[in-house]
Amino acid sequence: MTGEAVDRRDLTTPERESSTVAPTSRLHRPPLPEGMSRNAWKRDQKKQKWLEQKDARNKYKKEKKKQKKIEKMERQSSQPDRSDDETNEKMEGNIVGAGSADVVKRGRNDMAVRAPITILIDCGFDDLMTEKENLSLSSQITRCYSENRRAVVPVNMRITSFNGRLLERFDSALKQQYKHWKGISFSPTEYEVPESDEERSQIIYLSSDSDETLTVLEDNKVYIVGGIVDKGRYKSLCLNKANSQKIKTAKLPISEFIKISGRKVLTTNHVVEIMLKWIEFRDWKTAFELVIPPRKQEGFESARQKRKRQSSLQKEDSRSDAEDEHDDETSTEVVDEGCS
Ligand code: SAH
Repeated sequence: MTGEAVDRRDLTTPERESSTVAPTSRLHRPPLPEGMSRNAWKRDQKKQKWLEQKDARNKYKKEKKKQKKIEKMERQSSQPDRSDDETNEKMEGNIVGAGSADVVKRGRNDMAVRAPITILIDCGFDDLMTEKENLSLSSQITRCYSENRRAVVPVNMRITSFNGRLLERFDSALKQQYKHWKGISFSPTEYEVPESDEERSQIIYLSSDSDETLTVLEDNKVYIVGGIVDKGRYKSLCLNKANSQKIKTAKLPISEFIKISGRKVLTTNHVVEIMLKWIEFRDWKTAFELVIPPRKQEGFESARQKRKRQSSLQKEDSRSDAEDEHDDETSTEVVDEGCS
């Protein structure tokens, strides 16, 4: 009796697996491949998306794991580092020409050759940030430091306008740890803008609003990154500042190499990390993929977005289920009629 019922259902609705699986709402959905149920199609789509993002995900996870391992090694290593201290002194000079290609110590037994490139983080925006944004900037600076410290090819790093609430935070909550940092210099004042055109041309202020696009990072240049977290409140802030100081500007070549969802304004630490990765691999695509979190890369679906999509699909399904039930009732009647 039960067997018969199953056989009959299989014959009448071959593509349906259960009553909760409904065919498409005819308005919004693409047609299903022949012989494929809606559920199988959804599974297939999901798998494809997952496979497409697999490489990026793995790369990102691997990088994070590596970072954690090195961070741990660094915490364990508390040996003073003379070569870095010497460099700190050298870096207190002029903004241009301070870059050096020294051999520096990265971990306990690890040496690296520093690129003669300077990354300067301009923190002259203290008043423009909320307390929370200020806190976030302090974490980003810490991150920049540790990324540079463990970079395969580190650079000279400078923090200028290190004052106000930022300094207060580093001095109190962060327990003056920065005073032990190596290979980095802190200056309470703004960077000096050289008078001569030639010297000024060695400086590039990075800004997503610039008309120029970076192609390479060059030796003996100083790349300024704005030390500000503003959630997009201040448009062209750094661009205008650089223009008024007659300093060249450039944006990262994001759209040339990677698709990211939303705005192309990155955080200070991501910009610094991308530059460090470019110096290591000499390849923008690799640098972007390693640093920009997969969730920002186009095509990625967060767990929340996924839940939202699934629930709206379910809603649509139950709507079309209702429609189908009506259709099924009609068609069953026809079949029954035919059988009887
Ligand atoms: N509203 C700020 C944005 C701050 S983002 C502004 O007007 O600059 C922090 C800093 O990261 C920026 O100041 C800039 O130096 C750098 N940055 C962010 N996205 C960038 C991009 N796409 N290209 C180049 N630099 C970028």
